[in-house]
This record gives sequence, structure tokens and C-alpha cells, in this order.
Amino acid sequence: MDLMEYQAKELFAKHGVTTTLGKVVETAEDARAAAEEFGFCVVKAQVKAGGRGKAGGVKLAKTPEEAFEHASNILGMEIKGLTVNRVLVTPATPPVEEYYFSFLLDRSNRSHLCIASVEGGVEIEEVAKTNPDAVKKIPVDALEGVTPEKAAAIVDEAKFPAELRDQAIEMVQRLWEVYVEEDATLVEVNPLARLEGDKLEALDGKVSLDDNASEIRHPDHHAFEIREEADPLEAKAKDKGLNYVKLDGAVGIIGNGAGLVMSTLDVVAYAGEAHGGVKPANFLDIGGGANAQVMADGLDVILNDEQVKSVFVNVFGGITACDEVANGIKGALEILGDAATKPLVVRLDGNNVEEGRRILNELNHPLVTQVDTMDGAADKAAELAHQA
Ligand code: GDP
Ligand code: MN
Repeated sequence: MDLMEYQAKELFAKHGVTTTLGKVVETAEDARAAAEEFGFCVVKAQVKAGGRGKAGGVKLAKTPEEAFEHASNILGMEIKGLTVNRVLVTPATPPVEEYYFSFLLDRSNRSHLCIASVEGGVEIEEVAKTNPDAVKKIPVDALEGVTPEKAAAIVDEAKFPAELRDQAIEMVQRLWEVYVEEDATLVEVNPLARLEGDKLEALDGKVSLDDNASEIRHPDHHAFEIREEADPLEAKAKDKGLNYVKLDGAVGIIGNGAGLVMSTLDVVAYAGEAHGGVKPANFLDIGGGANAQVMADGLDVILNDEQVKSVFVNVFGGITACDEVANGIKGALEILGDAATKPLVVRLDGNNVEEGRRILNELNHPLVTQVDTMDGAADKAAELAHQA
């Protein structure tokens, strides 16, 4: 789960990272009231996207009236396709210098990585292109973590100014604490600002939390979910306990087992090239216990995706055998009734495959086509999506 800036800053404050919390408000009137309290302040769009500054979503206000005006303009604004429903108002101290700092999970190197630069404030990808030497990438050993010595080495390698060295070393350790103790996969501060009087402060914050850890280790993280802004299909899937990720294509996908579903996405994307470039519409792993209700829940979510034109059900029977899955599909079609309107291509293989296929043949449902191979079924599903 990605957090909004104000939420990231709450975690920063909890772990002793210097930051200013300010007030999150949903109306321009409340922004004015906050500005009356703070004086010179900054009004910041709260959306889960970077580049808010460039898009006009970060404005300084000298008076409460200015804060009101900025908030009126920013609320309702769209930034990278996301509507701004709230703004953060914080007291503003102009930064003297802006740095970049992050910890992230480096999957390709099976390690943690620190990225630091004294050329922050702007998009770090740009700095990496135009001035790669200014962006330091420092691996962090997962077992050793960030000790005071490691923090000092990071600060020195990034070339933070000597006057700020002690503060930066402290800040780096506190940010590592956020990363580890909150089970984050990303903790990013841009800008990490040098304020007047040589004070170091996190003026922005971006945190991604590992949902697998949140479930049991951090029940408090649920409070960060902003339900009304979640994708409605993803929210529905979550309520039903389904492992679903919405994508942008036209072929709905249901499979059992994350590996099989991932490869199904690849096969469908490949098959789609021969059918007008259609693409998979989602990831959905119904897991081992694919009974009728789980299948119905999965189909229900996918069929409600307006972009979906066909559905590919790809199941390899294991502990849950193909005949149970076939009965699941049959039951799901009964449960859904008229709500099932899009063609289903079903590929069954594995445990009890003959019985599974027989059940679906006997059902002889007008929407269901059986194809025996994964490639063949992907091709059929892509063709049907393209024709629709
Ligand atoms: P982003 O563009 O979405 O990354 O949003 P940021 O929070 O990084 O804001 C963009 C720029 O606005 C920063 O680089 C700063 O120059 C400025 N800015 C952001 N927050 C503050 C703040 O609290 N005080 C002041 N004075 N400037 C800020
Ligand atoms: Mn930023």
C-alpha cells in the first residue's frame, strides 16, 4: 500500500524523523483556518503521485486568504489522473538546499538499497540521467542493517555538508527504523531540506508498506486505507478475500496459483499481439480452494470490469481437482445468472481433467468454450476480446 504524504509524515514523526505534520483538510475554509494558526504556510495536494509541485499542486501562502485561494484551486484538481480531495497545510520554512534520500527493496540484487543525492527536490530519475555521479546508490546488508557506522558512511558518500553531518547520520538511522519497523518497501524523502539555521527536515515523504506484513504485524496500518479512493473493483475483491490486481486490458484472467496466473498474463499478452494488441485485464489468483463461491466471487469482480470483453479461466487441478473447478464454474454461472454476459474460455488440466471437461461439455453453456491447451485458450480468449 502506498501512503499519502501526510500519512508518511505521521510515520516519520513516530520514529523521530524531523518533519512538520501540519493539518490535512478537505475544504478551502479549513485551509484558511489552518493558515490563520500557522502564518506563512504551504498548501500541498495529497495524491499518491509525485510531481505535484510541477503540476501546480504545491503553493506557498503568505496570508490565510492566499491559503484559501490556493486550496480552492488545488482541491478538485487532477494530477496524473488522480483527483485531489484533500490538501496538507503546513508552516513553511523556505528550504536553503534540497536533497534526496531513500531506502528501498532492491529485488534484482536481493538486497536493500539506499539512494542519496545532494541534488534533490527535482525528480531523481532526471538527476540520474543528467548527472549520474550526483546520485549515490549504496547497498544495505539486510542482516547488518544501518548501524551508526553505516549511516555515517552513507552520509559521507552522499557528500552531505559537514555542518549537517551529525543530523544527517541521525536522520538516516531514523529513516531506516521507519523502513524496518513499519515493514516498508520504500521510504523516500524528496526534498530532504536544509532549512535556515542549518536544520535538516523531511519536507515530503513517500512510503510504500508491504501489505503481506500489514495483515498480521501492523493492524494499525489499516487506518491508512482511504476507502473512497480505492479502485472499486479492487475494494470489492479485497472484501471477498481475493488476490486481485486491476490492469488495463480486455481479457479477464482467473487462475489458481500466483505462478500460473503470472504466466497466463504473459501468454495472453503474447497471443493478443495477433488480435489487435488486446491485453490482460487483471491478475486474479483464486488459490487452492476454488469452490463455486470463490469462482463466482472472482467472475463477479471480473465481469464488473467494463474493460473486460472475454474471460480466460486457466486452472491446473491439484489438491482441488478439475471436476471440483468445473462444478465451481457451473455453480458460479448459476449464481451469476444474467449477470454473466461475457464469453468464458476455460482451460482445464491436471488432476481429474477428464471428469472436469466432461462436466463442462455436459453443461453446454452458450458462453463457455473449452480449449485444452494454455496457448490455444489464450489465443481464443484474445480473439473473442478483439471481436467484441
Ligand atoms: P512533489 O513535487 O510531488 O514531489 O512534491 P514536494 O512535496 O516535493 O514539493 C515540491 C517542491 O515544493 C519541493 O521541492 C519544495 O521546493 C517545495 N516544498 C514542498 N514542501 C514544502 C514545505 O513544507 N515548505 C516549503 N517552503 N517548500 C516546500
Ligand atoms: Mn517530492
